[in-house]
Amino acid sequence: MAQSPNHVVIVGGGISGLSTAFFVMEEADKQGLSVQCTVVEREARWGGKILTNHLPNLLIEGGPDSFLTSKPWAMELCRTLGLEDQLIPTNGENNRTFSLCRGALRELPQGLLAFRPQRVETLVSGGLLSWRGLLRMGAERFWPKSSSGFSEETLGSFFRRRFGSEAFDYLIEPLVAGIYAGDADELSLEATFPRFKELEQQYGSVIKGMREAQAKAKAAAAPKFSGSPSSLFVTLRNGLGELVETLTQRLIDRGVQLMTGSGCREIQPFSQNRRRFSISLENDTLLTADAVVLATPAFQTAQMVQQLQPEASNLLKQIPYTSTATISMAYPAESLKEHIQGFGFVVPRKEQRPLLAGTWTSLKWPFRSQKGETLIRCYVGGRGREQILEHDDRKLVESVRQELQAIVGVSGPPNYTEVHRWVRGMPQYVIGHQANVAKIQELMNPWSTLYITGAGFYGIGIPDCIREGNRVAENLMQRFLVQPTVSSF
Ligand SMILES: Cc1cc2nc3c(=O)[nH]c(=O)nc-3n(C[C@H](O)[C@H](O)[C@H](O)COP(=O)(O)OP(=O)(O)OC[C@H]3O[C@@H](n4cnc5c(N)ncnc54)[C@H](O)[C@@H]3O)c2cc1C
Repeated sequence: MAQSPNHVVIVGGGISGLSTAFFVMEEADKQGLSVQCTVVEREARWGGKILTNHLPNLLIEGGPDSFLTSKPWAMELCRTLGLEDQLIPTNGENNRTFSLCRGALRELPQGLLAFRPQRVETLVSGGLLSWRGLLRMGAERFWPKSSSGFSEETLGSFFRRRFGSEAFDYLIEPLVAGIYAGDADELSLEATFPRFKELEQQYGSVIKGMREAQAKAKAAAAPKFSGSPSSLFVTLRNGLGELVETLTQRLIDRGVQLMTGSGCREIQPFSQNRRRFSISLENDTLLTADAVVLATPAFQTAQMVQQLQPEASNLLKQIPYTSTATISMAYPAESLKEHIQGFGFVVPRKEQRPLLAGTWTSLKWPFRSQKGETLIRCYVGGRGREQILEHDDRKLVESVRQELQAIVGVSGPPNYTEVHRWVRGMPQYVIGHQANVAKIQELMNPWSTLYITGAGFYGIGIPDCIREGNRVAENLMQRFLVQPTVSSF
């Protein structure tokens, strides 16, 4: 029998699926393997949550607007794709973020936003906490560590226990909400920020551990950009959509088949063979593959494997997702000048407001609006705050404008608004998440060339998705090397 190229079908054209396809082709070249690759995307456009809209005067990010530099995988991919000179840091001049505290905006300690362990001393400045709250927080160094070191804990429980309720409410909780749009009393520390538990267990104190890490990490921190200090977050000059465009172009150049406009309905084993699959699409196209990567949200993945592994499908359905929306608004620069400073603000759940955060996009990133106009972006929804999304766009914008008026005094109509809704867009790594994912993987093990990846499992950030894409591609290629395909199709 002639040896045919291995056919890999990747379902989902977000950053997880696209980067997996890219690494599959890279690995194939490295290993000298003949591989045919197809990526299937339900929507008409690529990128999933990454959505950049270019207007004549504005650059609007509907989903993510940047990625962390401390997790190197996105930076590395940008370098590999030749996008290094397009990476831009946040505008160092405005590097301040605020938290709404008892009705007023107060500055957050620098470095806290990225949970970067190097900048611990800034935690105790800022005037955000009462003296009592500050003292309780400072006592963390002497606070006994948990004796139940191995039992899973929520973020809320851990940070209240270590730093006290006030620090949790005004420093930690709004940042967690900003990243996960989640409820810190549901999210698992181990699945979201395992480093903090490790620091507690290793050093007896998060602050002590952070200081140690600071000493070790000093110069090796985030990358520096010419003329500006190191940046915790970076983006691409033309928006994150450029990463998607460059990736898809590379895939096309490499002969990858890109299919949009029809989703995958179901995966079935191909004639009793656990290493070949038939993939049926919603438009009734049938594909066969030697390996399948499902890079879709967990609840979508659940439907595709329902027939194949009903128990895994049920567990996939149990991963909760929350809905959010971003509302971008362009104002005449003059009307905002006196109201906004820094990068923006976060709103603690305790303040009981519908807004999660506001970003002064034009102050955070250069080139996002033309002179004379200022772009700002508000973030709403999230676990327990989703009601606001029931409004239509007009009412949603109105609610957000009222919030801006109340919090920062911005009045007057914007010149332009754009709403992006992300229904069930944000996975929630609640208590039990890791065990649930491990069980899903175990149940899927008999299908050794069927992979499940994406933001719903091992990390929601863009760098995490890329890291996982790389890991899946390497693993998949190893399997092809060990058991080359000999059947033709
Ligand atoms: C508002 C918002 C702001 C964010 N901000 C940041 C940020 O600043 N930095 C950061 O690092 N991360 C951020 N994130 C998180 C990050 O953007 C996402 O976790 C990541 O982009 C998810 O990528 P993914 O490929 O795993 O999933 P997705 O982007 O959801 O892609 C999955 C794709 O699968 C497709 N699909 C679904 N079902 C099927 C099917 N049956 N057949 C075929 N295709 C299907 C979907 O259409 C979609 O294109 C943000 C997320 C949101 C929603």
